[in-house]
Amino acid sequence: MKGYVHSIETCGTVDGPGIRYVVFLQGCPLRCKFCHNPDTWEVNTGKIYTVEELMEDILKYRNYIKTGGVTVSGGEPLLQADFVAELFKECKKHGIHTAVDTSGAIPLKNCKHAVDAADLVLLDIKSIDSFKCRALTGKGNEDALKLLNYLERVRKEVWIRHVVVPGITENYDDIEKMAEYLSYYSAISRIEILPFHKMGEYKWEELNLKYELKDTPPPTKESIEKIKEIFKKYNKNKLNVA
Ligand code: SF4
Repeated sequence: MKGYVHSIETCGTVDGPGIRYVVFLQGCPLRCKFCHNPDTWEVNTGKIYTVEELMEDILKYRNYIKTGGVTVSGGEPLLQADFVAELFKECKKHGIHTAVDTSGAIPLKNCKHAVDAADLVLLDIKSIDSFKCRALTGKGNEDALKLLNYLERVRKEVWIRHVVVPGITENYDDIEKMAEYLSYYSAISRIEILPFHKMGEYKWEELNLKYELKDTPPPTKESIEKIKEIFKKYNKNKLNVA
């Protein structure tokens, strides 16, 4: 079983609980305007690893990640669902916690086995409004919401992530709708509000891609606090909003 890997971060702290070995897989079907890793988009490129090779490397960091685990991110890792499923099964044999960081853009029938093998799913909801989601990413949010329904049904722990982009997703009516929508899901244990930033802008330039958000500022601290308060209002006591 081989996978196309974009890069590896051996001591990640932002993609799931604890210190984690993070594998960024190559390939993504979305084209988010705020993407800071457009160099992960292309499929069937990057460094090829077998599950065995990757496990061998992961086990070298076993002591560092014992309070965390392994996260597979991207790109969209569930484009390589077979590889993710195999890797997670191997991690499980060694008692290592696993998380997959996904945009939910892959139809469930193609990635259910990988999701089932994960301990935690980090699900990016780009917009609760499917029309706006399509304008922002190239695809509606239907598959992401179906994945969330499935995770609720099988009681798999979910962290939701939402990027706040001024002029696009920094829309308090949409945030209210999303916060209320998510309040019905008991599988969600955390919501992460991520402020838009331009750290990936140079990659768009290097790839000769047009970066439409050149003049978009990051959201203010006040706005992020206001958004967190909206999520907290609908998800009292149940959620850790970060
Ligand atoms: S899903 Fe992630 S990797 Fe893919 S385009 Fe969007 S931000 Fe970039």
